[in-house]
Order: sequence, then structure tokens, then C-alpha cells
Amino acid sequence: MNNDSKSIHEFDFNLICEYFSSLERQGPGSPEVTVKALSFIDNLSDKSCIADIGCGSGGQTMVLAQHTAGRLKGVDLFPLFIELFNQNACLLGLQNRVQGVVESMDQLSFKDEELDLIWSEGAIYHIGFQRGLAEWKRFLKTGGFIAVTEVSWFTEERPSEINDFWLDAYPEIDTIPRKVAQMQQTGYLPVATFVLPENCWTEHFYAPQAIAQENFLKKYTGNSTVESLIASQRHEAQLFDKYKAYYGYVFYIGKKL
Ligand code: SAM
Repeated sequence: MNNDSKSIHEFDFNLICEYFSSLERQGPGSPEVTVKALSFIDNLSDKSCIADIGCGSGGQTMVLAQHTAGRLKGVDLFPLFIELFNQNACLLGLQNRVQGVVESMDQLSFKDEELDLIWSEGAIYHIGFQRGLAEWKRFLKTGGFIAVTEVSWFTEERPSEINDFWLDAYPEIDTIPRKVAQMQQTGYLPVATFVLPENCWTEHFYAPQAIAQENFLKKYTGNSTVESLIASQRHEAQLFDKYKAYYGYVFYIGKKL
């Protein structure tokens, strides 16, 4: 495997964090899509408790907070993202009900049935879709909602270049009907599923990275790890452009039965 085809998961996490910390969001998505997903959730009030797991620096969390009234806790493994998250909450005057904490998604400290809503954009793959749905369920009240985005196949068959790339990066990638069935099998009523529009990748994820990449390469001139990290990000963007008919991010929204 040459460096360009290395997946993001194979690089040092601190380097990845530093690179992504200069961006408003760390995965594909958009404010419009966050608001659209929220429109399927009808159990919220100013007493609600919401968690955003793998929140990063909080791009989507702040949108969520601006469209809900309850308390919101963002959880991420990386202190730098949580520092930025809490700064962003303060800048928006949301610090009294929005708080970021450093915690791992496989060792969450929520109490059983504490939450009305679990949110997670572009992050559940770190624990795995099925495992995340199953393990996080106990933190939700009955009738509570989960809303996650997950990379998914659009077709049953794919060209081998993209098939092999994603199976190597995330073996749990699957088609939308199979992901919905997994949600149902884990004890949720699948409430809504929709594909994120292309601009969630191009305009909101890859375009801002072009500037970040130049800055990062300048800061770390001659650093071969940084050069390969950037090469792999550029390669991923090129693959998306070439094969976007075959895969994308999908919002899966379920209600705990
Ligand atoms: N939700 C953000 C967004 O859409 O912009 C961030 C998505 S980013 C692709 C994935 C996030 O998961 C990163 O912020 C990363 O630090 C976080 N993460 C990775 N492993 C984690 C873990 N074990 N527990 C909590 N967060 C984790």
C-alpha cells in the first residue's frame, strides 16, 4: 500500500487532531442536515438531556443547541477538540447548557435512562455501528431517540477500487437496508433515514481542508508523516469525486422501544 492509499485511521491521532482542529467540522455534514435530522425528533423540551458523542470541536453540536432548549453534553476522546468545543459554546453564549467533556464512547459515564436524545455525526464508526447502537441504548429513556450518521453503500455492487478502500478503512460499511435492519434488531424503531447531500462532503468538508492542507504543509515542511497524511486526505477526496454514486453518509434516526 503506498502512502496515498493509507486510510486516515492509520495515522497518529494527535497529528490528525491538530490537522482537523483548524476546521469547523471534522466530518461530512452541514447545519441544514443537522436541522433536518432534528425535525424527525418530537420528544424534546427545556428539561431534555442530550448527548453528542464524538462531537469533535462541536460544529454540529452548536447547531443542535441553537435548535433545542435542553442541556447538551458533547463527548470526545481528544482534549484539544473539547477545549475548542467549550470555547465555541462560550462564544455563542451557550456555556450554561452546553458542556464538552473528555470521555471515550466505549466507556461513557451517563446513567441508565438519563438521555432523551443521543446524537453522533460521523463518529459511531469508531466503536462500530451495531456495537454503538447496542451499548448506548441503555443511556436512553424509553421513547428516546438516537440520530447518527454512518458511511453506507448505495449499491449492492461496487468497482473494486472503492470497495477495497472502504472495506479496509471500515469493514462494517454496508447498504442502507441492512443498516436499518440492524437498527431494528438492536431494539429501535427506525424513524427516518436520509442520504446527506453531496455538498456535505464538497463544500463543508473537503473545500475547507484545501486551506488547512496548505497551512499544515507549511508548518511541517519536510515532515514525511504530515505529507502522507495530506496525501491520504487528498486521495480520499479524489475517490469521493470519482465514486460518489456508490457511497455516502446517511442519517439513521431511531426511537428506543
Ligand atoms: N462529530 C464531529 C463532526 O461531524 O464534525 C466529529 C466527527 S470526526 C470524523 C470523529 C470524532 O470522533 C473525532 O472528533 C474523534 O476525536 C472522535 N473519537 C474518536 N474515537 C473516539 C472515542 N473512542 N470516544 C469518543 N470520541 C472519539
